[in-house]
Amino acid sequence: VSSGFARVDAARVRALREQLDRELGAALVVKDDGVTLEAYGRDESGLGPFLADLVVFPSDTAQVQAVIRACQRHAVPVVPVGARTGKSGGSLPVCGGVALALEKMNRILQVDPDDLVAVVQPGVVLGALVAEVESKGLFYPPDPNSWETCTLGGNVAENAGGPRALKYGVTRDYVLALEWVLPSGEVVRAGHRTAKGVAGYDLVGLFVGSEGTLGVATEITLRLLPKPRAVRVALVSFRTVADATGAVGRVLSGGFLPRALELLDDVVLRAVAGKGVSFHPESRAVLLIELDGTRDDAVLEDLLEVAARCEEAGALDTQVAQDEAQREALWRVRRLVSPGLRALCGGKLSEDVVVPRSRISEAVERFKAIGARHGLVIATYGHAGDGNLHTNVLFSGPEDNPRVQLALDEIMGVTLLLGGTITGEHGVGLAKKKYLPGELGPSRLALERAIRVTLDPEFRLNPGKLFEQS
Ligand SMILES: Cc1cc2nc3c(=O)[nH]c(=O)nc-3n(C[C@H](O)[C@H](O)[C@H](O)COP(=O)(O)OP(=O)(O)OC[C@H]3O[C@@H](n4cnc5c(N)ncnc54)[C@H](O)[C@@H]3O)c2cc1C
Repeated sequence: VSSGFARVDAARVRALREQLDRELGAALVVKDDGVTLEAYGRDESGLGPFLADLVVFPSDTAQVQAVIRACQRHAVPVVPVGARTGKSGGSLPVCGGVALALEKMNRILQVDPDDLVAVVQPGVVLGALVAEVESKGLFYPPDPNSWETCTLGGNVAENAGGPRALKYGVTRDYVLALEWVLPSGEVVRAGHRTAKGVAGYDLVGLFVGSEGTLGVATEITLRLLPKPRAVRVALVSFRTVADATGAVGRVLSGGFLPRALELLDDVVLRAVAGKGVSFHPESRAVLLIELDGTRDDAVLEDLLEVAARCEEAGALDTQVAQDEAQREALWRVRRLVSPGLRALCGGKLSEDVVVPRSRISEAVERFKAIGARHGLVIATYGHAGDGNLHTNVLFSGPEDNPRVQLALDEIMGVTLLLGGTITGEHGVGLAKKKYLPGELGPSRLALERAIRVTLDPEFRLNPGKLFEQS
């Protein structure tokens, strides 16, 4: 697939490889076979493949440094790569060059229950960290749905979040410190291991969410919490999305902060019908509401009060999970949404826009109308608590692509008009690059470009992503 970007010259790559062989020899794993290049040319955005010239697998920070320095010296682009679960094409080597795969740096270096801190290498899979900290009675809240495969390095680069963001926040809220290799190859330590610390600029805040453009995370220090002892979930059915979002307002203003508040619209309900949970026959929207706390009886009492508030807002019925198996069955429905939607139509493009909570219902209606105008079905589900909506444009095949793109342009336009943002989780990468200027405006775009130019004047790190050099 042509990326539309100029590919790096083959002679430069040869010179780079010779230098890496000289400096690091067999200590650095380097691959350039077709199968590997093809695999690292794709992620979950559906874009590509865009083939690197070399895929390198460093095993420590010094090797990351050496690779980046050599890439700068030979003017070869270099793209950090985690587990390639990204949905915006962030890890794709659109100009060729080096894919810097961090998966071998996968050690959990420390889990400290006294300081409530974990220190990990970037290639640690989120699920492995969660298992380790939970075995010690601790809690790492960010929960992107890809937790079984995505890496902490990728989470840091994308500032990943999930259903628990409403109560607990996103990855940025848990990164205390970073060992960070700058695009020059220099290593800096940003942030503090302590829970508080305000000395210096907030470089952690800048680096988290930088999508592989401002440097490479080689060690990540994370804040942990005590694990909540009790968790309860309920599924509440409504006649309309407006009723459901009205209930969200009543719950929050009533003094309850659920750890998850997930919305599924009517198309999504069709997609998951018959998959283990039955919905009220009149329901055209549901909320999955999860609360946590210290004592089970208190959490259950709160959940029943939340259900009562939903009834006041027009809820048709409420199913409270009575045990862990029922809780799992309700969450399974949420996990089946994505494959269920794909099965409805054949293909889908999944967005992650965010609108103010008060505009969710209007956004869902306007997105549906956009779909209808283009002869497409649009389904919306997602995090009703924070307005982060997974709006899915369903289509049958590649022939629908022009209509899908037009619908997408309009969805992004409406999102910005409603005071929202084009991405709440997946990042800009390649997929949403064309919409970024519309959101940032010229002054902020110029400022962000200036920051990148300061750190990486030639845009050697992850070129073609977020925005162009000039
Ligand atoms: C089924 C599914 C469900 C998902 N659900 C969610 C969700 O609920 N919430 C959410 O936020 N996302 C979700 N995602 C998107 C994706 O999983 C996240 O963006 C994740 O953080 C990417 O991690 P990764 O290791 O796969 O990174 P990759 O896809 O390999 O890379 C992503 C970006 O990170 C950069 N990068 C990787 N490692 C480093 C590093 N060490 N230093 C600097 N930059 C680096 C890359 O250059 C790239 O720009 C989902 C994806 C899938 C497939």
